[in-house]
Amino acid sequence: MESIELKRFWEQVKEELLGVLPENAHPWVYPLEISGYDKGVLTIVTGQMMGRDILRKNYYDLMVSALKNVSGEDNSRIVIIYDENAAKKLKKESEKLQKKALETDIKEQAFENLSNMQSAANLNLKYKFDNFVVGESNKFAYLTAMAVAKNPAEKYNPLFIYGNSGLGKTHLMQAIGHYIIFNNPKLKVKYTKTEDYVNDYITNSRKNNSTNIENMSKFNRKYTNIDIILIDDIQFIESKIKSMENLQYTFDSLYNKGKQIVITSDRVPKDIPTLTAALCTRFEMGLMIELTPPDLDTRFKILQKLALENDLKFEENALKYIAKNYSNNVRELEGAFTKVCAYAEITEQELTLALAKSVLKCDENDDEIDFEQIARVSAGYFGVDLKDLKGTARGQKVSIARHISVYLCREITNQSFVNIAKYYNKKHTTIMFAYEKIRKEKDTNRDISNALREIRQALKLL
Ligand code: ADP
Ligand code: MG
Repeated sequence: MESIELKRFWEQVKEELLGVLPENAHPWVYPLEISGYDKGVLTIVTGQMMGRDILRKNYYDLMVSALKNVSGEDNSRIVIIYDENAAKKLKKESEKLQKKALETDIKEQAFENLSNMQSAANLNLKYKFDNFVVGESNKFAYLTAMAVAKNPAEKYNPLFIYGNSGLGKTHLMQAIGHYIIFNNPKLKVKYTKTEDYVNDYITNSRKNNSTNIENMSKFNRKYTNIDIILIDDIQFIESKIKSMENLQYTFDSLYNKGKQIVITSDRVPKDIPTLTAALCTRFEMGLMIELTPPDLDTRFKILQKLALENDLKFEENALKYIAKNYSNNVRELEGAFTKVCAYAEITEQELTLALAKSVLKCDENDDEIDFEQIARVSAGYFGVDLKDLKGTARGQKVSIARHISVYLCREITNQSFVNIAKYYNKKHTTIMFAYEKIRKEKDTNRDISNALREIRQALKLL
């Protein structure tokens, strides 16, 4: 027989063998290989010595009948040979399989550990560094959070992240937790909302008996037997002196053991009325870092990321429209996006600008912004009268408000200094001086850069 024919013949025989032999004999059949077939005599080899013996002893007749079924030869015979090389090959294959199984086991185990750790740490999978969009408004906070995640308790301890609601404080804080769990799994992370901490404390300290002592020591172990604590929204701390004392105990135990503490709040510690002075001092002694509303470009990127994550087709202008109209809060920005998407999905339309406009119905702000608008918003920001900006008042507040509004008039409208000077009733050299002053100082003076950003935001330009 030609070798191809031989192979095909053997495949048929093998199939027949699997058909006639009971299932518990199959493991001995699979590794069989043909060596030759001549005048009704089939020679097969196996790397399993025990397999050879079992097949010979228990299944020889059945095997011959299977062979007869295929070959049609009456005087069929089968010779089963044990072969060292086949044995080696089998050994190698089984080792490979075992290794693979072990690797999968390890991977699964690691995955299981990771998700156990995530849930033990109380983290939400959604909040990681790699899906946090970085822009001017949050770059510093992002870099600091990353530095803490890479080297916990080395530099910035405690790290106090503050800023208005919906700007990514919880996201950044949990990103630190995830980073540590992934890269430094020996460290124990715990995320807790302030209310949960307080409630947990109240539940465990309620009864004044021996169980209470036991519960309290369990409670304290839970919050101090860790390497990184993430306490979210500390402004919700209640003024109950006992829970405050306990928080101080938790803080001091961790801090003194060289553990990392990260806290978030919607304002700086000294503006939290319920906070004791002792805790306030502690929170201020590390690094306090502010998250401010993202600029237009960052907001657009956040929406792009969401659209990509959801595998959505969209018109770029639709995202720009949403980004332009939701400037103060990323949560609201995401909410607006979700609303438009839901509408698109239900009505089976694409995410177009027209759809976004019809769903969100934001006030249109496409008209050219004029000097008057800029001056009015700037005056409002500094709490001075619009007419003083155009008049001769020289107070410090009026001067800075005037300089800033002049700078913005030039930057936003691109009008000549002469035209701007006419509006402010000033010489054009005075206007040029004001413009230059702000241009030079805006990158180094934080008050100025904040004012510029917030006025632009109020004008819906960011
Ligand atoms: P906060 O805790 O400051 O109130 P969150 O962290 O809960 O705000 O953020 C609100 C929502 O906005 C979350 O869904 C978060 O993922 C998202 N978010 C905020 N900032 C960013 C950012 N820079 N990149 C991506 N998503 C962000
Ligand atoms: Mg939050």
